[in-house]
Amino acid sequence: MVCGDVFVARALHPARNDAEAADRFAIAPEDHLKASRLARANGHRLIGCYHSHPKGAAEPSRHDLNGAGEENFLWLIAGGADCGLRAFIYRAAGFEGLPFGADLVTSSLNERN
Ligand SMILES: [Zn+2]
Repeated sequence: MVCGDVFVARALHPARNDAEAADRFAIAPEDHLKASRLARANGHRLIGCYHSHPKGAAEPSRHDLNGAGEENFLWLIAGGADCGLRAFIYRAAGFEGLPFGADLVTSSLNERN
C-alpha cells in the first residue's frame, strides 16, 4: 500500500455478472463501458469493483487474479464464509490488502451526480 491512498465512492453502478460458471465473477463488458462513460460524464472515473464470495472468504480468488488487469483498481470483496468485507488494490500483477474502514448503506437508487 502507498501511504495516502484514499478511495471515495461517489456512485455505485450495478453490473451483470457475465461469467459462465455460477461461482465466477466477470463484469459484463458493456456494463463496464456504460459505467465508465457515465463516470467520465460526471467528471469521475471508475476506481474499483465489488462482489461477494457467498461460500468463500473475503479475499481474492485465483479467478479474481486471472480476471484482474487494471492497475490501481480497488476490489471490495464480501465473504459469506467469514462474514467479512475487505478491500484490496490490484498492482503489479497482484492484490495488496488495504486497511479498510467504511460506512455503508444500500439503496435501490443509483446516484447519477
Ligand atoms: Zn472473487
